[in-house]
Amino acid sequence: MGDVAGEEDVLCRVHSSCIFGHHFNSIECDCREQMEISQQLIQEAGKGIIIWLEQEGKGNGHFALLKSVDYKRKGVAQAEAYEAVGFKRDARDYTQAADILNEIGVKSVRMLTNNINKVETLTQHGINVVGIKPTKL
Ligand SMILES: [Zn+2]
Repeated sequence: MGDVAGEEDVLCRVHSSCIFGHHFNSIECDCREQMEISQQLIQEAGKGIIIWLEQEGKGNGHFALLKSVDYKRKGVAQAEAYEAVGFKRDARDYTQAADILNEIGVKSVRMLTNNINKVETLTQHGINVVGIKPTKL
């Protein structure tokens, strides 16, 4: 949204798809809420970037997500639930997000996330992250 080429400190949400949250309105995860809050914050700022990555189930895919449900319902955290059913804790890849931001030509971004670890992950991929703005209203 808006003209972000050459801009600094632009709000940016790098969002991984979630069939449960986005298609079925699941309340077992906050994916949908995270996206709606990000859209609202960007709208209020008048500009920003949302990058949608097809990384269902922390990059493990739909099958892993479905297999992990029983463990999650027993109170196992998502990352451990993926491991319990034979997948990686987190198989996401942010290379494409970095490529997209470079293509857009934005100078620096402020990540819309509640996950401080995402800053380090994206910085490792060459993205100039100046900070985070929590996705809470
Ligand atoms: Zn979700």
